Amino acid sequence: MGKKPKYHFNQELLRFERIQKTAFDWLKSFLFHAFTGVSMGLIFFFLYLTFFDTPLTKRLREENEELKVQYKALQKQSEGLREVLDDLQQRDNNLYRAILQAEPIASNVREGDFSGTNRYASFAKMNNSELMASTTQQVDVLTKMVYVQSKSYDELLELVKNKETRLLCLPAIQPVLNQDLTRTASGYGPRIDPIYRVPTFHYGMDFTAPQGTDVYATGEGKVLQAGWRRGYGNCIVIDHGYQYQTLYAHLHTIGVKKGQKVVRGEVIGGVGSTGKSTGPHLHYEVHYRGKPQNPANYYYMDLSPEEYDMMVQIASNFGQTMD
Ligand SMILES: [Zn+2]
Repeated sequence: MGKKPKYHFNQELLRFERIQKTAFDWLKSFLFHAFTGVSMGLIFFFLYLTFFDTPLTKRLREENEELKVQYKALQKQSEGLREVLDDLQQRDNNLYRAILQAEPIASNVREGDFSGTNRYASFAKMNNSELMASTTQQVDVLTKMVYVQSKSYDELLELVKNKETRLLCLPAIQPVLNQDLTRTASGYGPRIDPIYRVPTFHYGMDFTAPQGTDVYATGEGKVLQAGWRRGYGNCIVIDHGYQYQTLYAHLHTIGVKKGQKVVRGEVIGGVGSTGKSTGPHLHYEVHYRGKPQNPANYYYMDLSPEEYDMMVQIASNFGQTMD
């Protein structure tokens, strides 16, 4: 098929002239058509993208859904772990640390505080940011909890290793021979002051005994004080280490010197009635971490459970102390 020739009207010469196309004209025409074609193609391509998923988008969308499901499963799993760790913590604080007399670890220390950090800010821009941030935070908390827990076990292990010497040092017997418990006069708690006749708090335990009766060191330790102390009369204080101290008051005689080492059951003095006292007796105090404790809770080494019950009953009678 031949091409139709193109004509051009020459206004000066008033006649039609046949147009001769140059190579440049041909190129121009080709480029124009090519550009129009590509442009239309692109427009349709973007329209298609807007209204339909390409195979790649479809795959990504599916993967995203799958990840979301996996994240949720992960969150469930870490919630399960959290329960196990909570249980371990309970036992750690209330049982192991209590038995070995270590301070319980506060929950804010165990879990750490991640609320102030912007660790999770990068998630904010993403879809499902809440799910990702909360799961990541949960894992952070778990990590911290596991770390603190293992540190706690390390500490307890050290305490157990020292348990032998610790047991020797604890003030764990009665300070006078009291086999039938008849010497227990008055215990720790609110009592009536024997001299001023007003309610006061009695920070120790009184044992009645004839003057000169042997007084024992109740645990291994070092004599911190041996001499006169206002109100207490002749008085001995023993430091047992592990933050334990015991005090023996109203003594007739003092048999130890300051700085001297003593062992449990060693005679350190004799019962008397020196200081503020209404008759021969031993006033005995146990201090832990600088605070007076009920001595009745510390005689587990020389009392059977029955004797112990009886001792607690006698010691808790609301009577008059001997001071
Ligand atoms: Zn007393």
